[in-house]
Amino acid sequence: MKSKGELQFDAVVIGGGIAGLQSALDLGDQGYKVAVVDKDATIGGKMIRLSKVFPTLDCASCITTPKMSSAAHHENITLFTYCSMDKLDRENPERVVVKLTQKPRYVDPDLCIGCRKCEYGCPVYVSDPEQGGFNMRKAVYIPFSNAIPQIALLDAENCSLCGKCARVCPTGAIDYFMKPEKFTIVAKTAILATGFELSPMDQKPQYGLGRLQNVVSSMQMERLLAPHGPYNRVLRPSDGKEPDSIAYVQCAGSRDKSLGIPYCSRVCCMYAIKQAMLLSGALPLADITIYYMDIRAFGKGYEQFYQNAKAMGIEFVKAKVAKITQGDEQTVKLRYEDQEGDGGVMEREHDLVILSLGIVPQWDPEGICNVSCGQDGFIQSSMPKIAPTVTDLEGVYTAGVAAGPKDIVDTITEAGAAAMEASNYLKGLGQAGQGQEETAEAEAGA
Ligand SMILES: Cc1cc2nc3c(=O)[nH]c(=O)nc-3n(C[C@H](O)[C@H](O)[C@H](O)COP(=O)(O)OP(=O)(O)OC[C@H]3O[C@@H](n4cnc5c(N)ncnc54)[C@H](O)[C@@H]3O)c2cc1C
Ligand code: SF4
Ligand code: SF4
Repeated sequence: MKSKGELQFDAVVIGGGIAGLQSALDLGDQGYKVAVVDKDATIGGKMIRLSKVFPTLDCASCITTPKMSSAAHHENITLFTYCSMDKLDRENPERVVVKLTQKPRYVDPDLCIGCRKCEYGCPVYVSDPEQGGFNMRKAVYIPFSNAIPQIALLDAENCSLCGKCARVCPTGAIDYFMKPEKFTIVAKTAILATGFELSPMDQKPQYGLGRLQNVVSSMQMERLLAPHGPYNRVLRPSDGKEPDSIAYVQCAGSRDKSLGIPYCSRVCCMYAIKQAMLLSGALPLADITIYYMDIRAFGKGYEQFYQNAKAMGIEFVKAKVAKITQGDEQTVKLRYEDQEGDGGVMEREHDLVILSLGIVPQWDPEGICNVSCGQDGFIQSSMPKIAPTVTDLEGVYTAGVAAGPKDIVDTITEAGAAAMEASNYLKGLGQAGQGQEETAEAEAGA
């Protein structure tokens, strides 16, 4: 593997989810040289892992894969995957210095041709988080079929060092002795698009996640519904039965002061309605119930989407779920306070329960970067009304869920805005993109 040392770019984008990719593509199209850094082994963020997207029900990977591929093949964009960010400093108005560590893949990216022979040969099976933990993967693997880059990585924690992958690799790419490598990116502007993760539920054991097999997270359900999902159909994890009765528990890990997450995560009502609609298509005879406190269908066409779900027969029960326990015959029992009709505490059993988990920041800048965050931990805008992507660090912008929960439409809009801010900043430094320089020269010559 070639050593990277110090690399120069016009802009650096931290995070290769849909926000980071959109910002990078907009800047790259303007002729700026852009580095995209992601801590994962592939770009694509959460969106590439979704099934279909509300409110259009378009296939998520059909939208995300072309963006990933455009970024990977763009002459002005360079991807740095599987890198952790140690420090991001603005040294002066023209210098953002990002210190990074290239984590070892134990596979030389310059030699790997993505043939997967190592994966087929590896005898070790490990639970695959990319498939919600419902499938197994090998100890050496490519994260998923449309991952970018198509370069294998070896999971050192689970590898038995049997040597089989090295023996079958046609290019000699396996390197068990690979070490982490430090390198530096110097740019003039930066965009922080570090996205989110799902609310941790370890302080809420009464909801049964990780304890009851038939209680799953909304992201696990995205995988069950995805065309290349673990079972290619929706099955109950405990026994592989098709569920006849499915329930959603809303605000699981949102609007909950006891978890330190008092805010609304904004997308969970809509993604639960979307999944319920997809489920009623996949399992037409199943009863689907959504237990909710309020339905927040805020975007254009979203209220109609909600009304369509009701018209399809999805049941909405206004209730606060207090406890989830094991029911009879592998069912899951919900105990809830009914907030309509006569009220009171009620119990109902379902075959499968999905927790509509909330959204928390994926990255904490503390000790790494001097940008300010709000009380909720998301990156704070210094001009939330007129320029929401501007942070309090000069020339550093933010986009997507890194700045607060939002859907894909708002994420992409914000990513475009962040790219425009960054481009204006570069122009302010007297730095035009390549194409722009050529156009200006042509105009001057005319
Ligand atoms: C279950 C579920 C279903 C959803 N369904 C829909 C839907 O149908 N329609 C819709 O509009 N929205 C939906 N959403 C919301 C949608 O997923 C988000 O709006 C969108 O993915 C946000 O993209 P992002 O790029 O901001 O963040 P992410 O997708 O989280 O991307 C962030 C990227 O940054 C990287 N990163 C993080 N920290 C670092 C670091 N320190 N250094 C380097 N890289 C880093 C991550 O690896 C990741 O690749 C859903 C959300 C969930 C949870
Ligand atoms: S490491 Fe070798 S065997 Fe594995 S995908 Fe790469 S080239 Fe193929
Ligand atoms: S050396 Fe490790 S990764 Fe390679 S085949 Fe053996 S167990 Fe799998």
